[in-house]
Amino acid sequence: MSERYEVLAVRYGTRQASAAEVFLNYHAYREPDRPLVMDYFFWVARNPARSVVIDTGFSPAGGAARGRAMLVDTVPALRAAGTAPDAVTHVVLTHAHYDHIGGLPAFTGTAAEILMTRDEYDFWTGPMGRRGQFAHTTEASELDHLRELRAAGRLTLTGRAKTIAPGIELIQVGGHTPGQAIVTVATAGRPVVLASDAVHYYEELERDRPFSIVASLADMYAAFDQIRELAAAGARVVAGHDPLVAERFGDPADAPDVITIARA
Ligand SMILES: [Zn+2]
Repeated sequence: MSERYEVLAVRYGTRQASAAEVFLNYHAYREPDRPLVMDYFFWVARNPARSVVIDTGFSPAGGAARGRAMLVDTVPALRAAGTAPDAVTHVVLTHAHYDHIGGLPAFTGTAAEILMTRDEYDFWTGPMGRRGQFAHTTEASELDHLRELRAAGRLTLTGRAKTIAPGIELIQVGGHTPGQAIVTVATAGRPVVLASDAVHYYEELERDRPFSIVASLADMYAAFDQIRELAAAGARVVAGHDPLVAERFGDPADAPDVITIARA
């Protein structure tokens, strides 16, 4: 039998955005603009055998450069979730945007295995990743850090599907970025899909509305379909930036901003 995990979403940042800013070609829907809060999360899946961190948040510099409010830095956020970098066995990077890899230095001195998809790594370390409409979503120094980790044998590149650990699967879906991954986690109850930025807001899935930052629109729509299939088969989908995550899963008994999605 597969292992089971407790799954936590850690809300470490927030900002005020708007529908016109977050949905691709929002004018096509002929609706007035409206304010939308964008929350920033990373995720932890753990059981007594291992502790897997999925994404790492933005760095203080990466957040400040874009006017994002950091509520708590990566290491204290982990502490709030009852863990620490040294306890982490695996770090999965769903994609290379600044708000997902900026906290990586907290883990590079540990024994944790760091993984991301080969397609994602190749894109952002290649020439196309430096073009303006792509590059603004990343920090050059953080991409250099990925290169250094790869050269040092500290970064594992995966194919389109990879078992991270028993009960934890990475699935490459693309769309938002060329190698964007989602992560499924087995729990004591229904499985959890950590959609990361394949689904920023539930509205993307529920109203079939692509997000504004997109590498392949066709792949983004196909990812929606794939995630809907997982949901139809019983999985609980955790969106990557939606304040509704707290509403749908938040437990007031937990530490502030550490949202428990599933208990082990
Ligand atoms: Zn993001």
